[in-house]
Order: sequence, then structure tokens, then C-alpha cells
Amino acid sequence: MKKILELTVGWLYPDLMSTYGDRGNVIVLSKRSEWRSIPLSVIPISFETSRKDLLSCNLVLGGGAQDREQELVANDLRLNKGKTLKEMFTRGIPGLFVCGSPQLLGKYYMTGDGKKLLGLGIFQFVTKHFGHDKPRCIGNTAGKVVGIPLSEIGKRETIVGFENHGGRTYLGQNDKPFAQVLKGYGNNGEDGYEGAVYKNVIACYYHGPFLSKNPHIADWLLTKALEIKYGKIQTLTPLNDRLEWKAHMLMLSRLEAYKDI
Ligand code: GLN
Repeated sequence: MKKILELTVGWLYPDLMSTYGDRGNVIVLSKRSEWRSIPLSVIPISFETSRKDLLSCNLVLGGGAQDREQELVANDLRLNKGKTLKEMFTRGIPGLFVCGSPQLLGKYYMTGDGKKLLGLGIFQFVTKHFGHDKPRCIGNTAGKVVGIPLSEIGKRETIVGFENHGGRTYLGQNDKPFAQVLKGYGNNGEDGYEGAVYKNVIACYYHGPFLSKNPHIADWLLTKALEIKYGKIQTLTPLNDRLEWKAHMLMLSRLEAYKDI
């Protein structure tokens, strides 16, 4: 008999952490799952969320936020949810964290006015906001994925998105970068790296919403969530992604990122 598949996605502090269209990542995953007849429910991970509810999540999403919102959630995230999330991610539960949320998954984030927000230590990186001493990193961006094997994401190794951050992230020795910067600033505008990957968790600076223009990454996340929940399954039913890839390719050519690939 065919197994009935279903997924639960946890969305980190939806009221406080969702900038520049990051909510779209939740919608993209819901739709891509629904189109394959895999019902996907979304639960908010908020101040009240229990360990039991957190453990029911097969995938975790986090969006961007300004320093003020990050300050509001940092303690709750670290003290009440950090241990459970670490356990889940170590087991292989996938996640996608954009901009403000991954800054809280590293060792610490130093805000624009010099407050040190301790992170979960899932990644070794540190993030520092230099206030007015350095310009914000803003603009459309493109990268080449290096942190996930190409065999797992299909034929296309590029990603496109939009970044807007003051914080600059510096990877630790054991952090694996998510991508190589083709256009844009990436983690800090200096070392050419974008984001980081820990097991099946992606930390990145790509808003957009990221998954709408990068269907290969959306499907990688869904595949990993299903694999961890049900064991190795057959590959996902292909979808018609003509429009998604058109948007992706248009951004690559607008940014003249082609020649760098
Ligand atoms: N406050 C953080 C920064 O400026 C995150 C911004 C964001 O999530 N877009 O670096």
C-alpha cells in the first residue's frame, strides 16, 4: 500500500521575523508540497511554543528581522528552544534561515548599537554590525552553491536573491559555506562566501522570497524533510517550473552572472 505522506513546517516568530518577502518561502513550500498531494501544515514557533510542538516539526523556516526584533526574540530562542533545535538539526531536520534569523544561530550577533546577542552555536560564525562605519550590503545577488552536492540539487548550481543587511558574518573554521558569491556582498563583502550549511540546515542572506526563484533548493528541503521523517523515499514528482526558472535565469543575466559560472 502506498504510504500517505505529510509534513509539518515550523515558522520562527512569524510576527517578528519576516522581512523582504520571506513569508513567501512558507507559501512556496506549502504549494510545492500540496501540488504533490503531500499535505503540509505550518505552525508558528512563538514564545509559547512547547518542546513537544517544536519536535513535531519536520522542517524549520526563519526569516529576516531588524535588530530590534532580533533583540526581542534572541533570549527566548536561545534559552527555551536552542537545545531542542540543536538536537533536531543534528538529527538532520532541514531548515532555511534568512538574514536576521541565521545571525542568531551562530556564536553571537553584535547589533548596530553594540549589543551582543548570544546565538545558539549551531554554526561557529559570528556576525557584527559596524553601524555607520560600513555601508549596508544591499542589492540583487547571485551565487554558486558549494555547500550541497550538485547531485542532490539537480543540474543547476546557481542561486539568485536579494540581500539587505548591516551585519557582516565571518565563518568559523568548521563552518561550510553555502555558496560562492557571483554577484553581491554575501556574508561580509570580503571573503566571497555566502551563508553556511550545517547538515541539512541552510543559513543565507537571500531574501526574495528566496525559494520562489530557486525551486531546486525548495525541493531539496522537502526531500530532506521527507527522508528524515519516512526514510529514503523515491524522488519528488517533477513540477512544471518553467516560470520559476525563467525568473532565475533573467536575474542571472541581468546581473551578468553568467560569465562567472
Ligand atoms: N538586522 C540585521 C542586519 O541588518 C538583519 C537584517 C535582515 O534580516 N534583513 O544585518
